[in-house]
Amino acid sequence: MREILVKSILNKKKKRDSWFLDDYTLNPYEGCSFNCQYCYIRGSKYGENMAEGLAVKINGREVLDRQLAFRVKKDQYGIIALASATDPYIRAEEQYKMTQGFLELILKHRFPVLMITRSELIVRDLDILKEIDKQAIHAPDLSGRLNRGVVISFSFSTLDPGIAATLEPGAPLPQARLETMKKCKEAGFLVGMNCIPTLPFISDTDEQLEQMVKAAKAYGADYILIGGLTLFGSGPADSKMLYRKFLERKFPELIPEYKKLYRIFYAPPESYLRDLNERADRICNRHGIRRSIV
Ligand code: SF4
Repeated sequence: MREILVKSILNKKKKRDSWFLDDYTLNPYEGCSFNCQYCYIRGSKYGENMAEGLAVKINGREVLDRQLAFRVKKDQYGIIALASATDPYIRAEEQYKMTQGFLELILKHRFPVLMITRSELIVRDLDILKEIDKQAIHAPDLSGRLNRGVVISFSFSTLDPGIAATLEPGAPLPQARLETMKKCKEAGFLVGMNCIPTLPFISDTDEQLEQMVKAAKAYGADYILIGGLTLFGSGPADSKMLYRKFLERKFPELIPEYKKLYRIFYAPPESYLRDLNERADRICNRHGIRRSIV
């Protein structure tokens, strides 16, 4: 594992994210050993196996302490997404404890946090998260809408263990994520499923969406987010090329359909997204689960 020094670690967004409500993003590691083939950060910088290029931002705690103190002074509270370009609980976290150190600082400065993960290691930090949940200060326009300092969102692209093992080879399997979500719910947290991306013709069918929504209900989710797949680039380490290899191995019959969806753009056309949205609405309404964090 490389150790790198950073000058800045807390990224302030120009605009609050409409799905996740975060104003800041924070990433303890560079790259991600979960290695999802569709990951948007992919590209030549990290190579085909992102576990090989992984780096820990070794001075991250000092930098974060300084940056949070600065934001407090300006009264710029807002939700911090931990993380947006890595998983906060990759295996290396067991050794480096960067995420844990960041959470201690987030608690010290009383910021709210959105945890986005696929890992059961989050259970290790539930005690710190409980304190953040009680003590965090929200941005004024969110404080009436969200009365919790912590949101825990578990990411899924499918519930099928075989597809997940191929497409997200370094990540815990979906069933383990569901069970971890249940533990977090039982510990009193606001939890949800983040099904972004769903995979066209694979996990975006009515039947598959229904299964995900039923799992969300069964394992205690307060919400489920459902969105489409983006695929970028034309280099060998880019998500579009790696995803194409996955289709060749597992679903060659779908290649013509994908060619139509991703012919020109990195995202599927508006008509596809509208249809996905309408079907997701219908299924979520039927099962009585909301499609947003608040
Ligand atoms: S867990 Fe997230 S950051 Fe890591 S490879 Fe998968 S999509 Fe990318």
